[in-house]
Amino acid sequence: MSNAPLLMIPGPVEVSPAVLAAFSAPPPGHTAAPLIESFGIALERMRQVWQAGPESQPFVLTGGGTVGMDMVTANLTQPGDRVLVVDTGYFSDRIAEMLRRQGAEVVAVEAAVGEAPSPEEVRSVMTAQGPFQALYATHVDTSTGVRVDPEPLTRLAREHGMLAVFDGVCATAGERFAMAEWDADVYLTASQKALGLPPGLALLVASSRALAARAARRTPAPPMYLDWEQWLPVMRAYEERRPSYFSTPATNLILALAVGLGEIVEQGVEARFAAHARVARALRAAWSELGLTLVPARPELASNLLSALRFPAGVDGTLVRRILDHGVAVAGGLHPAIRNEYFRVGHMGFVTGRPELLRQTVLAVAAGLG
Ligand code: PMP
Repeated sequence: MSNAPLLMIPGPVEVSPAVLAAFSAPPPGHTAAPLIESFGIALERMRQVWQAGPESQPFVLTGGGTVGMDMVTANLTQPGDRVLVVDTGYFSDRIAEMLRRQGAEVVAVEAAVGEAPSPEEVRSVMTAQGPFQALYATHVDTSTGVRVDPEPLTRLAREHGMLAVFDGVCATAGERFAMAEWDADVYLTASQKALGLPPGLALLVASSRALAARAARRTPAPPMYLDWEQWLPVMRAYEERRPSYFSTPATNLILALAVGLGEIVEQGVEARFAAHARVARALRAAWSELGLTLVPARPELASNLLSALRFPAGVDGTLVRRILDHGVAVAGGLHPAIRNEYFRVGHMGFVTGRPELLRQTVLAVAAGLG
């Protein structure tokens, strides 16, 4: 038994014993048969978890979620593009800055902290200030716990001939996302959150429309490591169970990925979304008993994957340390406008099936509050 605190920050998260066992295996080479098999299985399972169609293309790269964001913006943006960002906080601001660095003109539809722009507001900006090449939104903003509904945003993007790109770094495999049904273009994530793996992988699935947009670029190719065209032959080879090489993958993480996605597929994605919703409901009831209120301004905006909780009167950031003293790691604030006014508790992946760990978390928060 380790003495490490229970990891209840909004990523990285606790991982299952089977994922940990796969991750801890002796590292295979990138052309070894077991690695090729795991990589192929992982790519197939990504389509299932993303609820994406057979024509969509999964990519797995070594790196954080930020690498996935850089990859998407580098492949899909040409200088002079006009791009609309649905801005719900810290991570939407990051992708807006990446888009600017690619030479795009960014129009951000903003909202107060804890709020999200409504689809009607987004539509009116599209109509009044369009045309735009793409819409970007953060499914769950981990800085505030605010969740947007990607479905109406995707519909608006389709109506206006725009690509629809979603940052699911906190959300993927925990909040509902139906890539094929909604006809979204990119859904990107990282391994260390609701997917339930250690950190170190950037994962995304791109639509054939998004791949065609990359192929039709007139401007210079993206940096090599980020270029979809470099990675396409590698991903296709692994899916066809052939060895391939462009840049060495994090082989142990690929083994863990195949196992972790297998657990998700076995549970069923809809059942998994429902489990996260149930856990969130139970925790919100507990927070309310403890006199804690959420940063998201309305219940329908609150993600099921983390609780961003305002400090009650007389309590400050030292609460995080006191909770840790009771064996549970939670996170401080991240959104610059309210950084010292709240803390965050993650509840995604493995712990959602372990009520005793959730109970331990609530008790540690209660003890920290004194
Ligand atoms: N987007 C969101 C919504 C995130 O929560 C994070 C990480 N907290 C990122 C992007 C960046 O991911 P990473 O830290 O793995 O680079």
